[in-house]
Amino acid sequence: MGRPPTHAARPAFMIRFLIIRFVFPIILFVVIRTVLRSLALGARQRSAGPRSAPSRDIPASAELKKDPVCGTYVSTAASLTRTINGKVVHFCSEECLHKYRAA
Ligand SMILES: [Zn+2]
Repeated sequence: MGRPPTHAARPAFMIRFLIIRFVFPIILFVVIRTVLRSLALGARQRSAGPRSAPSRDIPASAELKKDPVCGTYVSTAASLTRTINGKVVHFCSEECLHKYRAA
């Protein structure tokens, strides 16, 4: 009996204190970091210019050729290319190449 009422209010106060003291700065830090990163990324993309745009794409010179074994269209840049009986043939995989030679 005779517990001071401030004792009951203390945990709630502590939680609010912890949120303001720790959670809020963490959220703020994450937000600032995200903004800075997006700014840095944007600056990098702008400075790189359009040169970096087609880096991972199929080269412009590449074209699609039909694999005579499975019928898949393969990029000439990525396909297995063999000259068989004077004819350039493009295969999607080693397996198709072997099948074509066996046939
Ligand atoms: Zn194939």
